[in-house]
Amino acid sequence: MNPRYFFIAIATAGLLIASISTGKSKADAAAWPNKPSTQGGSPSDMRQPRDEKLWKRALEIQRKAIVIDTHNDVTTPMANDDYDLSGTPPTPYRTSIERMKQGGLSAEFFSLYIKPWYVEHGGAARRTLDMIDSVYRAVERHPNDLMFATSVADIRRAKKQGKIAALMGIEGGHAIENSLPTLREFYRLGVRYMTLTWNNTNDWADAGRGEKKHNGLSDFGKEVVREMNRLGMLVDVSHVSDKTMSDALDISKAPIFASHSSARALSNVPRNVPDDLLQRIAKSGGVVQVNFYSVFVDTNTVSPQSAERDARLKAQQAAIDEKYKGDPERRGEESDKLEAANPLPPLPISKLIDHIDHIVKVAGIDHVGLGADFDGANDMPEGAQDVSMLPNITYELLKRGYSEQDIRKILGENFLRVFAEAERVSRSMSKTISGDGSVRRIDR
Ligand SMILES: [Zn+2]
Repeated sequence: MNPRYFFIAIATAGLLIASISTGKSKADAAAWPNKPSTQGGSPSDMRQPRDEKLWKRALEIQRKAIVIDTHNDVTTPMANDDYDLSGTPPTPYRTSIERMKQGGLSAEFFSLYIKPWYVEHGGAARRTLDMIDSVYRAVERHPNDLMFATSVADIRRAKKQGKIAALMGIEGGHAIENSLPTLREFYRLGVRYMTLTWNNTNDWADAGRGEKKHNGLSDFGKEVVREMNRLGMLVDVSHVSDKTMSDALDISKAPIFASHSSARALSNVPRNVPDDLLQRIAKSGGVVQVNFYSVFVDTNTVSPQSAERDARLKAQQAAIDEKYKGDPERRGEESDKLEAANPLPPLPISKLIDHIDHIVKVAGIDHVGLGADFDGANDMPEGAQDVSMLPNITYELLKRGYSEQDIRKILGENFLRVFAEAERVSRSMSKTISGDGSVRRIDR
């Protein structure tokens, strides 16, 4: 996620980086005062004049389509600072109701990102509950704009009513504190996907950047996946190791999905999905939702810049780490602000579209979507830096000759198909939430 962690991960190859993670970084949308928008300005590339006819068509498609983003980390300031989604986001955040409307967004998955700190210090499940509450509060505050949603039918209903569907996904399987009953409680509260790990390996699944402890999924990890299938909770393989991903593909009865990952063939980082696994995800009927974070889009260009910045900010970062060592949330916020004040030069948006193209070529048009990671990752390509800019993606896809039907698949229909299949599998396995669910818990 954060380039700083990426380099630390390289430097300490094989070592756990969880303990030094200060949180995920946020970017400063305000750093791009000439940001393209649906109101005017150039949609994608400041150097090229906009094709007005194509732009009009892009906006029309955006208006009609169901547009879904499957990963947004604005939930963290919502939970920490009671950040309200109305009005202009305070630096460094970039998500608001207004911007979601400008982007033509139909459904947002609010990420319940649980820092690894809570594994060491306790309280991971409580932190998850606090974050769930922040999503409920946002919906209660803005009943005319947001609708609490837990199903495909809810998302389509919200679209008809002109509201944005608000859904939730857990990021980091350590949130369930090794308890299948706790997993079920989160489902009951409305959580509809769980990323099996974050960057930290947990007690039952190996992470892409974590220690390789379980050779993928442990026996309990396999039970977690089966229980998620039974409940109708999507199995998210962003962040996990390749072996964990492969195990999940072997075990899951429902299609596998990556909520915010890009293509490793174009940007060689462990967080991206390699071609063989892209193909297996497609074979499962699943979908990979492309992440906009610049390092995941083009590590060759961005990682050296990012390393240079990390070196430049090292002393300031160390001071933040020291000052807030007992308060991971505040430490994360301050780190985000520091990075936001020092943005990297943005990539052209075409680099991001290349990932969509690549996944289409390798996995097929039915297996790619959008999981931007707004307010979870810092630097993003020009014209894709906040949720209001999503029509630029549609415009760029039109420029490359994608049909309206194919664009609508990418914007949301592919994800809806996967979600509907997970619902169908769940119905075929069980009639009740408790059902014959295992009460298994494991100790650390
Ligand atoms: Zn993430």
